[in-house]
This record gives sequence, C-alpha cells and structure tokens, in this order.
Amino acid sequence: MKAAVFKAVGEPLAIEDVAVPEPGPSDLILKVTACGICGSDLHMTDVCDHGGGMAPLPPGAVMGHEFAGEVVEAGRDATADWRPGTRACALPYIACGACAQCLAGNGRWCAGSTYMGLGKLAGAYAEYVRVGAFEALRLPDGVDDRAGAMVEPLAVGLHAAGKAALRPGETVLVIGAGPIGLAIALWCRFFGARHVVVSDLVADRVARAAKFGATDGIDAASENAVGRFKRIAGARPDVVFDAVGVPGSQQLAMDAAPAGGRVVVAGVCMQPDRILPVKAVTKELQVNYVFMYLKQDFAFAIDMLDQGRIDPSAMITDTVGFDGFPQAFEALKTPTTQCKVMLVPD
Ligand SMILES: [Zn+2]
Ligand SMILES: [Zn+2]
Repeated sequence: MKAAVFKAVGEPLAIEDVAVPEPGPSDLILKVTACGICGSDLHMTDVCDHGGGMAPLPPGAVMGHEFAGEVVEAGRDATADWRPGTRACALPYIACGACAQCLAGNGRWCAGSTYMGLGKLAGAYAEYVRVGAFEALRLPDGVDDRAGAMVEPLAVGLHAAGKAALRPGETVLVIGAGPIGLAIALWCRFFGARHVVVSDLVADRVARAAKFGATDGIDAASENAVGRFKRIAGARPDVVFDAVGVPGSQQLAMDAAPAGGRVVVAGVCMQPDRILPVKAVTKELQVNYVFMYLKQDFAFAIDMLDQGRIDPSAMITDTVGFDGFPQAFEALKTPTTQCKVMLVPD
C-alpha cells in the first residue's frame, strides 16, 4: 500500500510502497478515507531533539493521527462488533482496553498504550491503518469522512474547554488561531461564553476565527491584546487559553489573566520556557495543563457533528492525494494561511 514515510529530519516525506498492516486479535484495519496534517507531525520531522525525553522519530515511521476510515478487516475478538464497511475514527493509540484507565476512557495513561505515528505503530498517512477496536468509534451517516478526521482536533479543543470549567456568560481569550485554538473557540461558544476573542499574529487566521465561534478577533501583530480585550468585554478575560505552545506563550496567557483568573495551557511547548512565577502567584491564577482527551470527548464531538450543532468543515482549507502530499506537508512549515490540510488517499 502507499504510505507517506519519514526519512530524516529536514527531508520531505516519501511516498513509498509498504506492507498493509495485519490486525491483532482485538484490532481493526481501516481503509483510510481522510487524515489531517497536525502541527505536531510537522514538528516531529523538523527537529532531532523533541525535548521532554521524547525519542526522535525513527526513519521509516508513518505519522498521521487525525483520521477516519472504513473497516476492511477485524481481528478474531472484534469481528462480532465490527462488520466490514463500518465507518469509524479512532483514538490514536492502542491500549490494553481492560485496565481502570482504559475503562474510564483514559487510555492515554494506560501503562500498555502504544501511540500511533511515533515509530512503533504506524499512523494514517497511508492507505490502511491498524487501530484498536476498543479505541475505535463508529461514525454515523451525519458525519462524513472529513468531519470524521476532524474529531481528533475537536476533541483536543473540547477537553481544553472542559478543563476551563467555563460557566455560561463568562469571557474567553484564545491565544492562537490554529486548528486547536479554533476548536477551543468553537466549544467555548457552544458552552455559552459571552465573548470568545481569538488573537493571532496572522491577520487572515484571525479573520477565519469568526466562522468557528469567535465573537471578536485581535491581530496581535498590530494591537495590544489585553487593551483590546478590555475594550470589547469591559474587563480582562475570565479564562485565557494558550493554544500556541511556543516559548513565551504561557507568560502571555498569564499576563492577560485577571486576579483570580484561569489559564488553560493547551499548546504543547517542547522547548524549555521561562515564566515569571510572581505574575501568576500574585493573581492566584489557576493554571491547568491539558493533554489529549478522553474517549468520551471523541463520542461527544461525533454526536454534536451528527446533530449538526457544530460545523468545523471550513477549517479544512485544502485536501491532497498522495502525489501532492509531501509538498503540502512541507509547505505548512513556513507561515501560511492554511488551516487544516487533509490527505484524502486516491
Ligand atoms: Zn494532532
Ligand atoms: Zn489499559
């Protein structure tokens, strides 16, 4: 089958012919129908040292963890529940499916979990992908393949919005208008925030945020975010999200928060970062870090897509087949107005 294979840091992915995965007893093989490119994948191919003890991506790795597909084969323990042709998405890891963490929807912390796209378990930049039946979720007819591939980034945003413990009528500042910032804005609007303000250094990205629940946008390259927010909402934001994850972005979020405010750090900064703790201390900030999502976040996102209560389709700014995929992937490494670019295998 065709797959986009990582060769070396700084080199484009290569479309190669690799073996079709075989299912374990409790696995499914999905024929991939769509797979989004994630910023973390761009990062993985760009630097040798990911920080935090994360191993470098080995040559030969196939990434891709935001996908939808169609069941073509099920392992012997999964055949009763998963008929060929069933459309599904899946959490991007295979875990034990039996421990307390897994049963609570929290397989990200299962001692036996293997993450997709880091070298040991191939991801979905390929024609077929192996997923765990326990980690898979059916896609109803109301959720098309591309929307199905958006469930993962939507779940990231949902989990982050959940950690903010947002109350209806509160005000929100989202720093960063990438797919995760937009997903956070979408859910904050959904849960009844009064003002959902998105700031970014790229004006086109700020403008796009209005389609995903942002009530206002701030072009942080040309205006002071806190001053503008106060003019919009009359006070500092109740909740500030860092949806950037570069050195300095946490400090920006803390600086924008009011006394007693909440900060949610959703951006994953993989370099050492400095913050000035006294700023957070004197404001008694509640700072919450978030990592991935629970299986329940996937289920809720799917249900809201199916009911037509959220529509992230305009986040998808481009789709490519295998031929154009390595170039499209490389192009996202330089400043761009693209949002979510998707591989749609041909
Ligand atoms: Zn991702
Ligand atoms: Zn487990």
